[in-house]
Amino acid sequence: MARISAPAIVILGTGALATARRIQALYAGSQVHALQGRVEADVSYNELGAHLRELYARGTPIVALCATGIVIRCLAPSLSNKGVEPPVLAAAEDGSAVVPLLGGLAGVNLMAREIAAMLAVPAAITTSGELRFGTCVLNPPDGYTLADIGQGKRFVSDLLAGESTRIEGEAPWLDDAQLPRSASARLAIRVTPRAWDGREDELVIHPRSVVAAVTGVDGGIVARVREALDSHGLAPLSLAALLASSDRMADPALAEAAANLDVPLCFALARPEDGEPPANLLHAALRIPYETLHNDAVAGVALALAPLAIDADTIGRKRGRLTVIGLGPGSADLMVPAARTALNVATDILGYDTYVKMAGPLRADQRVHGTDNREEMQRARHAFELASEGRAVVMVSSGDPGVFAMAAAALEALESSDNADWAAVELKIVPGVSAAMATAAQAGAPLGHDFCMLSLSDNLKPWTIIEKRLRHAAEADLVMAFYNPISRARPWQLDKALDIVREYRAAQTQVVLGRDIGRPGSTLRTITLGELRSSDVDMRTMVIVGSSTTRRFGNAAEGREWVYTPRWYE
Ligand code: SAH
Repeated sequence: MARISAPAIVILGTGALATARRIQALYAGSQVHALQGRVEADVSYNELGAHLRELYARGTPIVALCATGIVIRCLAPSLSNKGVEPPVLAAAEDGSAVVPLLGGLAGVNLMAREIAAMLAVPAAITTSGELRFGTCVLNPPDGYTLADIGQGKRFVSDLLAGESTRIEGEAPWLDDAQLPRSASARLAIRVTPRAWDGREDELVIHPRSVVAAVTGVDGGIVARVREALDSHGLAPLSLAALLASSDRMADPALAEAAANLDVPLCFALARPEDGEPPANLLHAALRIPYETLHNDAVAGVALALAPLAIDADTIGRKRGRLTVIGLGPGSADLMVPAARTALNVATDILGYDTYVKMAGPLRADQRVHGTDNREEMQRARHAFELASEGRAVVMVSSGDPGVFAMAAAALEALESSDNADWAAVELKIVPGVSAAMATAAQAGAPLGHDFCMLSLSDNLKPWTIIEKRLRHAAEADLVMAFYNPISRARPWQLDKALDIVREYRAAQTQVVLGRDIGRPGSTLRTITLGELRSSDVDMRTMVIVGSSTTRRFGNAAEGREWVYTPRWYE
C-alpha cells in the first residue's frame, strides 16, 4: 500500500478539538485545521467549502469532524473532475463514528480502520469487495503493486459475481482473507515479478523483489536498467531499488535515474571478495538470499531477484541529507510546504529548543537534538556528522534560514571541511518567510520600495562596520529592517544606531515595530522615528524604519492604519 501522506484534520468548533488531537497523534506531520475565530489550532481557514475543495485539489487526505452531508455538499463541485482522489473521511466530533467517503484506491478504508481502532468504534466500511473478502484485494501492502488498476477492477467484479480464484505465488497478506478459493478456478491472483502478459483472468501483483546495480558513469542508466529487466521478462514495477557504488553518491545522474524509475537509490562499496562488477555491488549490499539474474559488465547492469519483496531500507546505505529550513515567523500557515515536507521525512531534527518546538508536532521515531547552545558552527558540524551516516537531517531556523541564521553556518562548516563524506551529503536550503516580510505584511507594505536588512548584533562583526552601514543606508534613503535590535548583552547599541539614523531622517519618519509576529501574543505598532525609544524594543522585535517616502493612513471602516512605501520616487 502506498504510504498515505499526512491528513488535514478539519474541525468547525471546540467540541471536536479533543477528538481531532487524538486522530492527529496517529499521523506524523498532520495538522488540525480550525475555523478562524471559533477555535485555535494549527492552521486556520475562513470558509469550510473553499478550504475542503482546496485540500482535495491538492490531493491532501481529509478527515473532517462534521456531518457527512456537509463534507459531501462542500466537495460535490470537485467530484466530476476525478483525477487522483485523496482519502476523504468524516468522523463524529465525539469520536463515536468514522465514515470513509472517497478515495477507495488511495487507502481510505485503511485509514477509517486505523482511526476507528484508536477510537474503539467500528468503521463504516461499505466497499463490497472489502466487506466480502475482509481485505481490499486491489490495495496490496507495502512492497507490492498492482500491475494494472483497470484489470484489477474487472477481476474483483468477477469475484463479486460469484467466481472463485487460485492464488499463485507468495501472497502472505491474503492468508486470512475470506476469498473464494479453488485450485481449479478460471481466475488467478498471480504474485510475480514477471510482466503481466495481458491475460484478463489473472490479477497480477508485482512484489518489489528486484534490485538493479549499475556501474559506469555515462548516461542512459534508465534505458540500460529497463533493457535488462525486459530481457528477463521482469516488470519495471518489480524494481525495489537502484544500487550504485558509494563513491558516486553525489552523482546527479544516479538521483535522476532513480527518480525516473521511481525507486529508492542505495549505495554500497564492493570489497575484493565480492567478485566482479557490477554484480559485486549486489553482494556487498544485500543481506538476504537472492539469485543473480543478470550480470552485464559491458552495459554495467546487474540484477538480483529475491524470493519476496525487499525492504529498500535494508539495502546498503542511503545518501545522507541535510535540509536547512526556515519555519517562518511562527504560525504553521506561514511555513512553506517544502519545509513541512522536509520535516515529515526527517529522521533527525536539530536546532535551538524554541524552534524545534515550533517545528512540531514530531513523531516519536524522530530524533530531536534540541539545544540551548547558541554555538552555531558546532550545531552545523553535528548536522553534517549525522547526515553523513545516511540520516535525513533537518536543521531549523526561524524565519528564513539564510537571513542571519543557520544556512550560512552550514555552508561555512562544509567549506572548511575536507571530509569527503560531508561533501557527499545532499544539502538543500528551503526558504522561509523572514521576520521583516511577516512584519511588513501585517503593517501594509513598508518594504514596497528599495530596502535593506541589517543585524544590529555586534557578536560576529565589529560595531564600526554596523555604524558605517547604517550611515550609508540612511543616506541612501533605504527603508531599513533591523534584526537583533537589542539584547541584555547589547544594551546601548540600538540608541547609538537611532542617533545615526536621526542625522539623516526626519523625526516624522514612519517606524513599524512587530513583536512575536505570527506567534501567540504578537503586537504591531506604528510610531515615528521621533517617538521611538529603545525601551519600546526587545530582542523579539523587528524594527522597520521607513524611508522619506514611507507613509501612513487610517482606514476608518476597519479602524486600522496602513503603512506603505510607494513604488515610485519623486
Ligand atoms: N532567520 C530569522 C532571523 C533571525 S535573527 C528570520 O529570517 O526572521 C533574530 C531576530 O529576528 C530577532 O532578534 C528579531 O529581531 C527578529 N525576529 C525573528 N522572529 C520574529 C518574530 N516572529 N517577530 C518579530 N521579530 C522577529
